[in-house]
Amino acid sequence: MNGAYWGLATLDLLGKLDALDSNEVIEWIMKCQHESGGFAGNIGHDPHMLYTLSAVQVLALFDKLNVLDADKVANYISGLQNEDGSFSGDEWGEVDSRFSYLAICCLSILHRLDKINVEKAVNYIASCKNVDGGFGCTPGGESHAGQIFCCVGALAITGSLHHVDKDLLGWWLCERQVKSGGLNGRPEKLPDVCYSWWVLSSLIMIDRVHWINKDKLAKFILNCQDTENGGISDRPEDAVDVYHTYFGIAGLSLLEYPGLKAIDPAHALPLLISIPATSHSLSKTQEHRNPNNLNIHNSQIGVHISTVTSMALTHNFNHIFPTPSSSSKHKHSLTTTLPFSPKTHTKSHFFSTNIPSRIHNLQNPLPTFTRRLFLPSVSGIWDALTGGNSNAREAVMAIRRGMLLFRQGDVLGSLVEFDKAIELDTRQKAYLWQRGLSLYYVDRFEEGADQFRIDVAQNPNDTEESIWCFLCEAQLYGVDEARKRFLEVGRDPRPVMREAYNMFKDGGDPEKFAAAFSNGQGNEYFYASLYAGLYHEAQKEPEAAKVQIVAACRSPYGQRSDDYMASLAKVHCLCRNWSSD
Ligand SMILES: [Zn+2]
Repeated sequence: MNGAYWGLATLDLLGKLDALDSNEVIEWIMKCQHESGGFAGNIGHDPHMLYTLSAVQVLALFDKLNVLDADKVANYISGLQNEDGSFSGDEWGEVDSRFSYLAICCLSILHRLDKINVEKAVNYIASCKNVDGGFGCTPGGESHAGQIFCCVGALAITGSLHHVDKDLLGWWLCERQVKSGGLNGRPEKLPDVCYSWWVLSSLIMIDRVHWINKDKLAKFILNCQDTENGGISDRPEDAVDVYHTYFGIAGLSLLEYPGLKAIDPAHALPLLISIPATSHSLSKTQEHRNPNNLNIHNSQIGVHISTVTSMALTHNFNHIFPTPSSSSKHKHSLTTTLPFSPKTHTKSHFFSTNIPSRIHNLQNPLPTFTRRLFLPSVSGIWDALTGGNSNAREAVMAIRRGMLLFRQGDVLGSLVEFDKAIELDTRQKAYLWQRGLSLYYVDRFEEGADQFRIDVAQNPNDTEESIWCFLCEAQLYGVDEARKRFLEVGRDPRPVMREAYNMFKDGGDPEKFAAAFSNGQGNEYFYASLYAGLYHEAQKEPEAAKVQIVAACRSPYGQRSDDYMASLAKVHCLCRNWSSD
């Protein structure tokens, strides 16, 4: 069912929906409906909210919602709402904020939002918001671009975007763009075409799409085409599949690529379909796209899609949304018969192509613990990027230059740029933690401590700024006095930073601390070693500091990450004349 939606929505965006016989498709879809009102992934399978939305979306594409008993479908969905406002995906009860989106999007298309408790649904989604501005699958779950799309989409549809911290989330999202122009789903991950949709649509819904380089992203997507056979893959040179073809085309549509229909970023359906418009979608009509300016292999993708669409239905696509839990009661046998056939002249060899079953497994995401709370300054950035205030723009550029110089080891040069930024736009001062770090490395500890104290006043949950204030004051007044002046901050979501905070605040054994995270996930070992070394430095134990900070540099995260703190560890070694190679 999902494959049908991806393939057919792609065809529609390309203006080629007539490649398939709509009656055949609709007949098959209706055979997938369960007596409960929900839809299954294929005939005879169990219903799930995910397939129900895909079925409704496909019927909307063909303008055939009238074949549905909308109240019956709405009753199925409302029956899955829980007491706390959350939704289960099916009768087996798994709860996830994605299911909240599926329910709200589906009911919105059916004009049946009144069938659920919207206020409770919205409050549940709001409870999944994290300190980094993103959203998780349940309260406290790690932020992930796919999850963010679902939560922001549901909030947009219900007119509840005031629950989103747009600047904070905008930063998290625009930091998903990597050098190649592609977007990733979480820090430190590879770019992937499907995030062109999850990230971009979210940025559009919160009015922050200007924060990424749209041209570079469009080029990245186009580079993922199979220019001979059509279709789009997750990354250049990989095999194409219908899922990435859809999200690549949908991403290009959001980028207002010529010749593609515009798409509604919240409902994930082409505009002009009669669904309640969300506010941003109204401003996005696109009658002025020039279809003659096509770089995209439009017709090839169209033909290929009609083929892979049919094939997709015989395979078990499992990408962003989990299929229903693998309970033995679920039937997941692969059918080999095509539920419906393409009308147009597709070459038969496409049918022998294997759809790659590469699965981006989002069900067991590895936790990452990057320095999310140390955000680049956001004040004035909107002015800066929209050209509203040229000084603000210059200030942001100066901060970028300063960060680059620091990463390159030019600490004094970075300070010149950071000071210039404050001169241009005094609002920046309250957020310039990068300046505090530079001040530490040129031994201007008093100014450094002041900088971190100002920052903590703005961001009272930042563990690292509190620790860096301590580090500056330990150099000025000694450890005991620095501890008396210790800045207490809120709970850090990262276990390693919570432990580091406790050690700096109350004392502790840095070797034990580092050892506790020696097998930690992601960047935990890096952070534990770095802060153990800094703790030794505060105690005036340079040899022990060297061991830990060099270890941090040599850790995989220290070597490969573009986290600013990984650069800091290298700068630290440079300033102390330690070899980190
Ligand atoms: Zn992907």
